[in-house]
Amino acid sequence: MPVYRPKQRSFLDLQREERLDVQQGTVVWLLVRYREMIFPQWLTRAWRRGEGRRGRPAWPIEALLALVVLRWSEGGMSRVSACRRAATDSMWRYAMGLPVEGRTPTEKTLREVEAWLLEEHEESGLSRKQMLFEHVAHLALWSVSARGLAPPRWFMDSTPMWCFGAVLDTVRLLGDGLRRLGRAWARATDQPLASVAQSWDAPLLLARSTKGWLRIDWHDPEARSTAISGLVAVVLRAVEDVKGELPQIGDTWVREEAGRLCELLLRVIEQDLVKDRKGRWNIAERVARNRLVSLSDPEAGHGHKTRSESFWGYKINVLGDLESGVIAALSVTPGNGHDAAPGHELVARVQQMRIDLRRILADTAYGGIESRLQLRSHGVDLVAPAPTHKRPSKMFSKNDFDIDFKEGVAICPNGVKSSERETTRGKEPKTAFRWAAPVCAECPMRQQCLRVRRPKTSKNGKSMGRPPKAGKRLVLEPLERELREARAEWADPARREEYRDRSIGERLNAALVQHGARSARSRGRPAADLQAHLIGMTVNLGILARNLAATEAAARHARPTRRPTAGASRRRAAAAAADRRRPAGPPGRAPQLPLLPSPARS
Ligand code: SF4
Repeated sequence: MPVYRPKQRSFLDLQREERLDVQQGTVVWLLVRYREMIFPQWLTRAWRRGEGRRGRPAWPIEALLALVVLRWSEGGMSRVSACRRAATDSMWRYAMGLPVEGRTPTEKTLREVEAWLLEEHEESGLSRKQMLFEHVAHLALWSVSARGLAPPRWFMDSTPMWCFGAVLDTVRLLGDGLRRLGRAWARATDQPLASVAQSWDAPLLLARSTKGWLRIDWHDPEARSTAISGLVAVVLRAVEDVKGELPQIGDTWVREEAGRLCELLLRVIEQDLVKDRKGRWNIAERVARNRLVSLSDPEAGHGHKTRSESFWGYKINVLGDLESGVIAALSVTPGNGHDAAPGHELVARVQQMRIDLRRILADTAYGGIESRLQLRSHGVDLVAPAPTHKRPSKMFSKNDFDIDFKEGVAICPNGVKSSERETTRGKEPKTAFRWAAPVCAECPMRQQCLRVRRPKTSKNGKSMGRPPKAGKRLVLEPLERELREARAEWADPARREEYRDRSIGERLNAALVQHGARSARSRGRPAADLQAHLIGMTVNLGILARNLAATEAAARHARPTRRPTAGASRRRAAAAAADRRRPAGPPGRAPQLPLLPSPARS
């Protein structure tokens, strides 16, 4: 099918577009003027629709990508709403390069573009969405430096993203999962659901709600245990039945879906339930590490925004410039994961983008010693609080002991040196310093230093019991030296002062949330990742638009004024009118975007 080329612009189009008051420095303005450069040919040439001669004309990829961006430019909306808006909003059509009247892309086309963006880019091996995101990030950073703004100061953090799928408790995970499996199996074997329910002896399959069908008092442990055990028995029977017959199912999609549901149901039983002595199943009083929280979003996890505030879904890990707000890299990981590992991947990604990153501000979550060492191996200096060794009691902490690692000597708070070292027993042997028992027994500080039971005192004031047999033992962490170096570094007031600027970087998270990143709009982590990248790209396009508009305005003001000659004002008025009539495309006097080639990838 050929590419849909909008009809030659009519006088009506130009007249209407001229009346549209496209505000300078907005994403729409940017798309109107620089659409072709924002979506470069090295990326868009892989869009194969429109190469054939038959069928309905395909949409130009630039118009579709513009629509994908516009969808997230105002707080996010569904695909259907975005397509409806494109059909009714002249400004959006103008930004997409479509005439003011005529058809617009449908939701299906938008889905196809998103699937195309998730595919691998032929030259780099990265996904297309990643390539496009990095291209826009480069442009935004270029616009910052071209405008002579402050050089980047890097910041990384994470922000929650709620998953799209329903978050369920254990009983509903089992019951709803079983009902889904039943429906999938009925489709796969081409039989009515009632027959499947009969063959599995599971009337629950025909119910509307799991808990509504069970109808028990959930506060009664006996009734709860009986209900859960019955449910588990049916699930195990059904899974065994399905798994046995699965290879004979011809339809690949149905086979994979049924297999996936079986695995999820077994995972729920393994993670959330335990058998008691009587052989009945009960809900376990623990939380498994990667506990399943949703059948539709199996990769979503239970995370914490703060100690008291939790969420179910994903974490958006973001790395960007806190001065300009440009987002250089981001990723989406399960909500229960730690921040440090995805943070390191972002740093590596940014360095592969050939962006100079030597210092980064981050919060305590990234301040662990392993994290610091890993970032140091990338040549990055981390400005983050060092892990503290808090002790609520008045006892001495490990920090109160000085250690000379070179000489192999530890000095206690009483000033007594010890070079006697030993290795602890256990799974992970550690080094420990030991002080002699007689020295500690006579020490006036021993109450604050030794973890021994206080000697009992008799009625007449005499101390009872034996003095401690051994002296103080100070066990060192495997990376104790690095830990102490990090703490010493953190004690520097200049470093702490620099760290205070970290809070400015929260604007990056705020910008993502403002454009609709707080909730995923589709099921699954890949879709959430695409959404986060598109939002990050829209944020960067906003910065690029503002910077280009400011640069253009500055260039206009700086232009020397010449004395008008006869007829010059008439010519100027004619040129201005021609400029206004000119449709989308790069104007002659505007600052040119750098023509970035397809970046070499490693
Ligand atoms: S109890 Fe032993 S190690 Fe502790 S301060 Fe006194 S002398 Fe030093």
